[in-house]
Amino acid sequence: MPEFDLITRYFAPLAKSPAARGLRDDAAVLPVPPPGHELVITKDMIAAGVHFRADHAPDFVAQWLMAVNLSDLAAMGATPLGCLLGFGLARDTPESWVAGFALGLGVSITTWDCPLLGGDTISGLAQHVLSLTAFGTVPTGHALSRGGARAGDLLVVSGTIGHNGLAVLRHFLQNRHNEPNWHFINPTSEPAPTVPPTPRLALGTALRGVATACADVSDGLLADAGHLAVASGLRVEVDLAAVPVADGWAATEAAHLQAVTAGDDYELVFALPREKSAELLTLQQQLGLKLTVIGRFSAGAGVVVFSAQGTDITPDRHGYQHG
Ligand code: ADP
Ligand code: MG
Repeated sequence: MPEFDLITRYFAPLAKSPAARGLRDDAAVLPVPPPGHELVITKDMIAAGVHFRADHAPDFVAQWLMAVNLSDLAAMGATPLGCLLGFGLARDTPESWVAGFALGLGVSITTWDCPLLGGDTISGLAQHVLSLTAFGTVPTGHALSRGGARAGDLLVVSGTIGHNGLAVLRHFLQNRHNEPNWHFINPTSEPAPTVPPTPRLALGTALRGVATACADVSDGLLADAGHLAVASGLRVEVDLAAVPVADGWAATEAAHLQAVTAGDDYELVFALPREKSAELLTLQQQLGLKLTVIGRFSAGAGVVVFSAQGTDITPDRHGYQHG
């Protein structure tokens, strides 16, 4: 199917914002953010065979692409303004894949109020390569940063950790029951469903002026907590037993260490001054989202993980690198 037809059939109906001009012009035109606001811009690319499997449902892939980008806006405390899609299709992709992708994208656009403003389409690649550029706004000077934590601040994480990491592990262990990694999985629990992550946008905006540093958990909880520590010039200490690990992992230290390095959580990890710890409960109730203190920042450098007994059990690997 010619690219022009794909755009008019599947993407123009999603581009409802007047700024997108129905995708009939060469580019979108929109008012600059209102005075007193700044523009926040991010881009994430995902590729079949690297970040998702060729057999993943296309609507799931679209929602995943949107979620990983909006998660970056959330980590900055930004509100979505719109997005541009980079749509690179593998050769011989059936039209039904494009239709499924557009369906999922439409769900995300509506759910997160992030209008499609335009994009580009190419086909004939060896594998699908998809990217999104997301734009957001924040009140001037109020964007969150990885670099503002102070010694004594608490380390807090939203939601639960290891859900998507568990889904990946289960996938690789399927039909391989003699695989040594089976001991990480709780054999009595249901397999983790493969649902797209929820970008924590409401939490991100609520953390403006509250958190001193913030990042989203994409590489792995330890890796991303480590990014806060490096950017803030501090050391971060994580109490493994305090981490809210998703259901399905075995209740062992080794399994939980695996969960905190698995990545793809798209929760927010942030630094909170101790005197603001009472605000956690209010936030938690307002947002209906679990917020858990899992450690603290101190003078020094690096990531240290403590067991329930207080021994240093820091693993060598802190996260997953997609390359
Ligand atoms: P050009 O080749 O001149 O850059 P295109 O034909 O690629 O223009 O794009 C025409 C319009 O369609 C532009 O507004 C562009 O932003 C939009 N567009 C192209 N591909 C996509 C896509 N996959 N999703 C959303 N908008 C798209
Ligand atoms: Mg053009």
